[in-house]
Amino acid sequence: MKYIEQYIIPIFVPHLGCPNDCTFCNQKSISGQTKKVTQKDVKDTIEEYLKSFKEERSYKEIAFFGGSFTGIEKEKQEELLKVAYEYVKNKEIDSIRISTRPDYIDKEKLKLLKKYGVKTIELGVQSTNDYILKKCKRGHTYEDVKKASKLIRKYGFELGHQMMIGLPESTRLDELNTAKDLAKLKPKIVRLYPVLVIKNTELEKEYKNGEYEPLTVPQAVERCKELYYFFTRKKITVIRMGLQSTDLICSPENEKSEVVAGPYHEAFGQLVEDSIWYDSILEKIKNFNVKVKEIQIEINPENVNNVVGHKKENISKLKEIYDLDVKIKQNKTIKPGKFEISILKTYKDFLDE
Ligand code: SF4
Repeated sequence: MKYIEQYIIPIFVPHLGCPNDCTFCNQKSISGQTKKVTQKDVKDTIEEYLKSFKEERSYKEIAFFGGSFTGIEKEKQEELLKVAYEYVKNKEIDSIRISTRPDYIDKEKLKLLKKYGVKTIELGVQSTNDYILKKCKRGHTYEDVKKASKLIRKYGFELGHQMMIGLPESTRLDELNTAKDLAKLKPKIVRLYPVLVIKNTELEKEYKNGEYEPLTVPQAVERCKELYYFFTRKKITVIRMGLQSTDLICSPENEKSEVVAGPYHEAFGQLVEDSIWYDSILEKIKNFNVKVKEIQIEINPENVNNVVGHKKENISKLKEIYDLDVKIKQNKTIKPGKFEISILKTYKDFLDE
């Protein structure tokens, strides 16, 4: 069956009483305000989302997010998975995914997830550099990541990795090395999260006393782009770049925001994608080997925004840096993700005129 849409039903399961102290996380300060998720909550969320899905031929997945699903009590995991699995059994839902820490994976935990039809397990790796992991008090090592990843694959689950960009003392090279280490463990999917400084965390203190300097948005975009290229070459799909915006994860200028500083952008992934389009367009222009004044880019209507860029950034950059005008022609026969480029005017034509 060919799916037209893919829908995710996110269910946030906070790890109440998490014994770890990751310096970027505020779960200790919010745990008093967060309530336990019940079976009814899961059912209500699923039903609500199912009602809102418009496309019949869609792939639907329940995603238990929150970081450490297998760290919560076994009975609670079972309670929540049971509800989700009922929907998989009666074919209303196609699959279930969970996310957890590398040191919360063992054979027993995997058997439980298997029993309830979980398909994908995402590991919060953050970095494979033990010094950086220690610096952010992550509480696990690269060795744990290797062991957990191998076990997950051995049990037939789809493996996912989440890594962070801009952790304290992490350089661009450290992140490329993490990506190389992860690629060897053969994840199917990867998520890239630039570090944001969240209120009431140890990182906030480090930021305020000048020990930690967050990345800027352009720096985070560049680093994510490099990793995106790397993973794509390795045929690993990058499914997300940047945290999902919520009422609390939003611009630091918003008074309700939990974000104090860091490369927050409501469309961060889009910025990276636009920048990738910009690189590809520029490469083609350079290959013309003639100074061009005006070009036409033909694209599928789906990709107009990618070519134009956020707030027309791509078009403005081509004009400012290369004095180049761009005409965009929409063409439904061009496959999404592809484009055709032609010269409308060279610099010589322009001068002759
Ligand atoms: S990020 Fe670290 S401290 Fe926060 S919930 Fe996950 S394991 Fe616990």
